[in-house]
Amino acid sequence: MTKQEILDTIELRQSTLKTWLGCPLMYKFRHIDKMEPAFRYPGTVHGSALHLVLSWLHAGEWKGDLRALYTKALNYYLYASDEEHIPVRWGGDMEKEIEALKVNAVEILENYRSKAYNQDALVLFSEVQFRVKILGYLFTGTIDQVRKNPDGSIELVDFKSSKMRPNHYAIPNDLQLTLYSYACKFGELLVDGIWVKPNMLLDSVGIYFLRAHEVYKRKTVNGDVGEEKGDPFMRTTKSIQELRAFRSEIRAQLSAMVKPWYYPNTASCAFCAYTAQCVGRNDHVPEKQASQAMELLAELNMA
Ligand code: SF4
Repeated sequence: MTKQEILDTIELRQSTLKTWLGCPLMYKFRHIDKMEPAFRYPGTVHGSALHLVLSWLHAGEWKGDLRALYTKALNYYLYASDEEHIPVRWGGDMEKEIEALKVNAVEILENYRSKAYNQDALVLFSEVQFRVKILGYLFTGTIDQVRKNPDGSIELVDFKSSKMRPNHYAIPNDLQLTLYSYACKFGELLVDGIWVKPNMLLDSVGIYFLRAHEVYKRKTVNGDVGEEKGDPFMRTTKSIQELRAFRSEIRAQLSAMVKPWYYPNTASCAFCAYTAQCVGRNDHVPEKQASQAMELLAELNMA
């Protein structure tokens, strides 16, 4: 494929960038070849449902029944979203796992709701779509939340529900967070069906690690039974100079993304939903030779 064909095929969403950074080969499968993952992890569905409930809480459901809200959100992602046809890879008994997810969600959401810094925050934007042009290319995506804190600071938070806390040192270099900050300053947000230009230089941007609201079930060196697992905020700042420098960074990433070769990231393979498609790859054979070989094997009924 040519560079233009690749650009015409992919959507420059923040999720595309995320997949690219995780594994370029997975990016090829997902965004160029348009192959669907073989399965979804329960944790991914759980994270999506938590995001949805958080947006409902700040849109008038603050005092709502958390278990009922989470169940509604989970059912949507399991049975009604545009990914509902992709099977979920349950570890064992589906009913038991769903019940465990509900218990975990209520624990996280209750502790989220109990914090004054969440109660008193004025949520300006929640699950809001953005679009922004960088070097002539239109990037799109969704920002989890932009809030005004009681001290007047404007903060962007990206909710994470992964089991492992993200690496603190990676936050300042997180390309997605910079893209969100860039969009708030130079791009547009879709508010009530209208694209608006907020022109906001955020005071801080970061990850809100939802699992920090889980409580210790047994005493550990990090905390006692019943204590929460720490501070959910992992913040950084983005100056206007950093946002301008981001354009060059995007140029470098984009020029790599449109080259027709992709390097596997074998560190992620153990958890990958493309393993079945990926095992047939040969990283060292050019595409033309590989397809000739496949044709020959097909003639021999071996492909
Ligand atoms: S199996 Fe590994 S190399 Fe292949 S797409 Fe998945 S993460 Fe990338």
